[in-house]
Amino acid sequence: QVYTDNFVIDDDMIDQIFIPRENFTHKGTYGKTIIAAGSYGKIGAAVLATKSALKTGSGLTFVLAPACGYEILQTSCPEAMFIEGGNKNINNIEFQENTAYGIGPGLNTDPETEMAFLQFLKNYSEPLILDADALNIISKNQNNLKLIPERSIITPHPKEFERLFGTTEDSYKRLELAREKAKEYSIYIVLKDHHTQVVTPEGKVFYNITGNSGLAKGGSGDILTGILTSLLAQGYSEENTCLLGIYVHGKAADFAAEKFSKESMLPTQVIDEIGNVFLDLN
Ligand code: AMP
Ligand code: MG
Repeated sequence: QVYTDNFVIDDDMIDQIFIPRENFTHKGTYGKTIIAAGSYGKIGAAVLATKSALKTGSGLTFVLAPACGYEILQTSCPEAMFIEGGNKNINNIEFQENTAYGIGPGLNTDPETEMAFLQFLKNYSEPLILDADALNIISKNQNNLKLIPERSIITPHPKEFERLFGTTEDSYKRLELAREKAKEYSIYIVLKDHHTQVVTPEGKVFYNITGNSGLAKGGSGDILTGILTSLLAQGYSEENTCLLGIYVHGKAADFAAEKFSKESMLPTQVIDEIGNVFLDLN
């Protein structure tokens, strides 16, 4: 089978997608983001995702996390508002209207978190971003996949993809399976890898060419979740959210690698480069 609906995400495509900020606007113009993330020992994941959402331009940013993360988050992300969702793990995900949700980094897969997350999904029907332990919780039962709202964006790394949809012989077969599943569940699958692929519900595949192996470190994926949720909040379509989001993430990583080396660059420094990516886009 020959596919004609394969695309490379290049600078021209990104220029078409990117919407510069207008003068006569206010924070309400740029949407509301809620990052639901973190558990005892993994509050850092919530910090990384929340900072990334802020740095990507969301108008109002909230972080829903367990109480043990309160001081850490209020100190490291003072621009974000804190919503308590439990004690050491999230056990309740508050519902708010007109909000883009990014759920998963550092969540944990404890039964109480699982219950809270699945309960939330059962009552929620807008597209959202799901990553990390949100995907691992879904993987526990095939029926959970049906709870993902249509046009949502999921961001599995290869292992998470395998847990969700099963193993494949090679990366080509994996992409084929992703096409099938994206259609079946009407979701966007961001297959994170070197050259991350975005698979759309219509079966299109977009290849990202930004990014580098300096991202092969814990915390890199949490940044992508923050970026994507922030873009969705700002009104980008789901497809454009995926394309612009992975481009910005990879490009920020390329800037960080130039300054600090692939070895030494840290996810925190990737976040600090997000601004330089937008300077180039503007
Ligand atoms: P996670 O495994 O959830 O932390 O996500 C890792 C992030 O870093 C994804 O966005 C990957 O695409 C990216 N990444 C990891 N390793 C590489 C690599 N060798 N080259 C380019 N990007 C990578
Ligand atoms: Mg991850």
